[in-house]
Amino acid sequence: MTTRIPDPVFTLTTGPVNCYPEVLQALGKPVLYDQDPAFLQTYERVNLKAQAAFASANVPVILQGEPVLALEAVGASALSKEDVVLNLASGVYGDGYRSWLEPHAREYLEIRVPFNEVIDPASVAAMLAARPEIAVVTVCHHDTPSGTINPVKEIGEIVASGKAIFVIDAVSSFGGMEIMPEDVKADIFVAGPNKCLGCPPGLSLLAVSDKGWAKMKRNPNAPRGSILSILDWEDAWKREKPFPFTPSVAEINALEAALDLYLAEGPGTVWARHALTARACRAGIKAMGLELWAASEDFASPTTTAIRLPEGIDETALRQTMREVYGVVISAGRGATFNRLVRIGHMGPTARPIYALIAVTALGSAIARMSGKPCDVGAGAAAVMAVIDSMT
Ligand SMILES: *Cc1c(COP(=O)(O)O)cnc(C)c1O
Repeated sequence: MTTRIPDPVFTLTTGPVNCYPEVLQALGKPVLYDQDPAFLQTYERVNLKAQAAFASANVPVILQGEPVLALEAVGASALSKEDVVLNLASGVYGDGYRSWLEPHAREYLEIRVPFNEVIDPASVAAMLAARPEIAVVTVCHHDTPSGTINPVKEIGEIVASGKAIFVIDAVSSFGGMEIMPEDVKADIFVAGPNKCLGCPPGLSLLAVSDKGWAKMKRNPNAPRGSILSILDWEDAWKREKPFPFTPSVAEINALEAALDLYLAEGPGTVWARHALTARACRAGIKAMGLELWAASEDFASPTTTAIRLPEGIDETALRQTMREVYGVVISAGRGATFNRLVRIGHMGPTARPIYALIAVTALGSAIARMSGKPCDVGAGAAAVMAVIDSMT
């Protein structure tokens, strides 16, 4: 028998995140038969609460798998072989979306910027003017592996003035900052309960506009009778309609608890504590002489702080030191950002300003140990507390 690895003391990652205790409790409810009237009612109620959280005219769709399912399903459902798609890639997720778009489209176009920058709306306007046949525009709002926020409101205005539909991956921003599908003119908006809503990974949430539904319904290739089908779930929220297949009963209960917490605390209050935690974290990082990954703090995420790795520090070793010595787990870079940065998550239950102190001091102390050079952890801690104190 190998010895069992103890759990960390603090999980300050960018997803999955530690769940809210109320969410964990809800996961432990009895798992009802999916056609039991009590569950049919619950399913409808949860969808309506998700609609309230989205502030959308249409009732959302819940897909029974974590958000990569929804992202792949959107590629297959929205794109037909006649379509030209424009994907905006400012990071690993935006870039990675290509593999679920290109196979379904006639032509794949891309606007790409360095992964510490964000998309310029003017470049989207220029591309749409040059290629008016573009039918679908896709963007990742918060490219989590970079901790950067794309200007989707401005891009949405531009896309909405034409015929294309606008698809947004808002998985790691929805619930942690002000981002609502209709405010940004999204036709298909993908969110996930497993980031800022504080649920375990297991479901996807989609808000779909009338224009978005019409596009999918026109598509002869849109999946039906498949795990990738969005159309099959359009009316499944209604208690008198059958489910295409068994929903994840326990996850639905957990989502209800998370939505209840979000709506009861008030979205504005939830967003504010995410923003404050991130601001305190950035202040601490800079005070220790470390560098933020985002080229400008103007677009640094309120739900993730990405920090450029100091010269000569190995990412895996750094995260291992933080875990072993201090019991603190943070996220690695991913793909093109792997071994170039580390990321501290401020999502849901960990979007609490004092966690910035834990993350900053553990990071600074680990870097000092590893480099053998001093890192001013005291200045980092003071800067975190100064930001928090300025708000209270
Ligand atoms: C977390 C996340 C997803 C879901 O994908 P996983 O990597 O499987 O968790 C999708 N998009 C973004 C931007 C995410 O942060």
